[in-house]
Amino acid sequence: MNTMPHDKGHAAADQLTQSEERYRALVTATSDVVYRMSPDWKVMSQLDGGSFLLDTGEPIDNWVEKYIHPEDQQKVYEAIEIAIRTKTIFALEHRVLRADGTLGWTFSRAVPLFNEQGEIIEWFGAANDVSARKQTEQDLQDAKDAAEHQKRTYETITSSTPDLIYVFALDYTFSYANEALLAMWGKTWDTAIGKRLIENGYEQWHADMHEREIDQIVATKQSIRGEVAFPHAVLGRRVYDYILNPVLNAQGEVEAVAGTTRDISDIRAAENTLAESEARFRMMAEATNIYIATSDESSNATYFNQSWTKLTGRPQKDLLAYGWVDLLHPDDQERHVKVYEKAFKAHKPLHDAFRVLNSEGEYRWLLIDGFPRNYMDGSFAGFISAGIDITELKEDEQRKNDFISMVSHELKTPLTSALSYVQVSKKRATEANDTVTAGMLERTEKQLGKMTRIINGFLNVSRLESGKIQIDAQRFDMAELMEEVKEEALISNTGHQIKFGYTKSIWVNADREKIAQVIQNFISNAVKYSRPNSTIQVRCKLVDGKAQVCTSDEGIGINHEDLPKLFERFYRVKDSEMRNISGFGIGLYLCNEIIKRHDGDIWAESTVGEGSTFYFTLPTVE
Ligand code: ADP
Repeated sequence: MNTMPHDKGHAAADQLTQSEERYRALVTATSDVVYRMSPDWKVMSQLDGGSFLLDTGEPIDNWVEKYIHPEDQQKVYEAIEIAIRTKTIFALEHRVLRADGTLGWTFSRAVPLFNEQGEIIEWFGAANDVSARKQTEQDLQDAKDAAEHQKRTYETITSSTPDLIYVFALDYTFSYANEALLAMWGKTWDTAIGKRLIENGYEQWHADMHEREIDQIVATKQSIRGEVAFPHAVLGRRVYDYILNPVLNAQGEVEAVAGTTRDISDIRAAENTLAESEARFRMMAEATNIYIATSDESSNATYFNQSWTKLTGRPQKDLLAYGWVDLLHPDDQERHVKVYEKAFKAHKPLHDAFRVLNSEGEYRWLLIDGFPRNYMDGSFAGFISAGIDITELKEDEQRKNDFISMVSHELKTPLTSALSYVQVSKKRATEANDTVTAGMLERTEKQLGKMTRIINGFLNVSRLESGKIQIDAQRFDMAELMEEVKEEALISNTGHQIKFGYTKSIWVNADREKIAQVIQNFISNAVKYSRPNSTIQVRCKLVDGKAQVCTSDEGIGINHEDLPKLFERFYRVKDSEMRNISGFGIGLYLCNEIIKRHDGDIWAESTVGEGSTFYFTLPTVE
């Protein structure tokens, strides 16, 4: 380029040209791009783009589209306008389309060259590829944004928890405290951060303790967990559980200590209440002479009270490990275990009496009530049982039984002989045609027969209680038994409509005679407790794989509360309607004992004034 007029002399012009050439060489050497623009920037007369931008050899007027990123074009125009107007250097960082078609960043500067009149005659520009720096800047910005985002996330977490979260610098000052902690202190970030514990209101002992812990963490790089209680200004005495963790730097050295603290006052209070209540109940359980034990949901024993250890002579741990089933009387063992297992499986209460060998080698009678327990969520938690010693009661009962049995036996002999005298006398009176005497003797015989049945009933009970009733099982068809019972019932009962219904071939393995006795008992009760001429139904069918017999009557019915007690010995309903119906409350008790010994069930359903239905079931066989 030559801007010097020739008439100023060759030497000067040469010098200038030389200096300009040097300047250009310098700029070209230090820049990625050099370019020349017309005074109004409309035309680019030349651009050497190196490997950064495409070269322009001929003057062009579409250089903006060729090089400048569309979004930056406006910015470029504005910078040009200012540079032209102020006749100063154009300098701008903007995006460019690179020679390889990708986007890059450039820092571009252009100086105006003037003529003697001070008018711009050309712009001489140089630009550098700053894409790499821009990329680094961008990466840095991204990293900053990510960090900012992460910080906001952590802020949200730490500010929304009721737990106290904080960080100590190694000079024991707080470098972070979350909102909950600031609120507890009643301080703001600016008044609390950078302060030590003591300055944030901690008592001396408390501040010392944490500062010692910080030292320890720095030395050991190990976390510390602790519990501390102190009075809170508003909430009273509080208990806190805290964990202090070392924060390690890249070299693995402790650079800070981060901590979290949780208020566990309510948990501790609940635990204390629970422990206190547990202790109270345990004391109650220990102080009583009731036998108390608990088991878990898998039937493992979990507790025996002192009464149990005293009775068995076994320490608690042996009872827990081995139990006491081996101490059961041989006659009670199998039965009681069955009763227990059945109740446990069904999660139903149990009520049972049995004999246990005590530490002195004698059997004691226990009456045990067991109840299923539930967890708070309602799921089954196991059993709790309470028992009392009923040995004395049982002995009394035994004496009473012995007495009844003895009286019955004693009565039986004179009764039998009285009966035979009456029968002989009746025969003789008939032969002598003394019909009046024969008639009276006939009635005497009937009354004596009734007495015999009553006495037999008592004898049955005492035989049962002394274990003398044996089950004589044989395989038979219930239908056949029903047929027999039907025939007998129809002959002896004239006052009621008795209807029978049964399915053929329900095979059972049972004591035929005793089962017949149970059905007859049901029928005679139905007859006894209902008005003459009412209907009685006797049925036998297969229900859930078991033989089920039931008798329904249209009689006086039974109160809801009395229903489960009917099967107890000597139990009779206390009812005005019952007063003139004689009985001893033995029949159903015997039925119950017989059915139980057959692994069957027995029960009754009833509506007062409408009638009752008595049921029993027996397991079937092939
Ligand atoms: P008993 O009939 O000798 O009193 P049970 O043991 O046979 O003794 O019956 C016990 C009690 O059950 C009876 O006293 C009576 O109150 C009641 N009971 C039994 N069967 C019936 C029935 N079918 N209807 C009403 N009450 C009955």
